[in-house]
Amino acid sequence: MRPKFIVDTNVGRLARWLRIMGYDAAFINYIDDWGLVSIGLKEKRVVLTKDTQIMMRRVVTSGKLKALLIEGDEVKDQLRQVVRTMKLDQERKFTRCLECNQPLVSKRKAEVKDLVPPYVFQTQSRYVECPSCHRIYWRGTHWQRMKRELETLMEGAEE
Ligand SMILES: [Zn+2]
Repeated sequence: MRPKFIVDTNVGRLARWLRIMGYDAAFINYIDDWGLVSIGLKEKRVVLTKDTQIMMRRVVTSGKLKALLIEGDEVKDQLRQVVRTMKLDQERKFTRCLECNQPLVSKRKAEVKDLVPPYVFQTQSRYVECPSCHRIYWRGTHWQRMKRELETLMEGAEE
């Protein structure tokens, strides 16, 4: 089974990159330790945090709740650590909304005609939509930039 995550606010930028990789990464602003722990337990999510207090909780030391203490300060180091430790792959990259964490659904070209800019409609044939915020994604320049960024971030992470 693919791991699911809950990302602490002290490593919040990880959430976006895990979503880009297609992993379910919950992120809640202003959540306290108790909130993180209880959502982690209830939804069987791995807690990602820099907070050593969380790591010392009995629920974590007993193995009931899985938590990973993030070491680096830069998101690329943090992501590499998670990829290595949790053995993440890139098989489902770009299948999840970056804003809502929802799995994206395919749309037929005709369905998005009035929802995307004309130039995009002319040049792109594959579209996906977020069922929650209804944002439409396509493989344009923004997508290509993220893909390159991800490749750079992942250099050296998978050996
Ligand atoms: Zn969305």
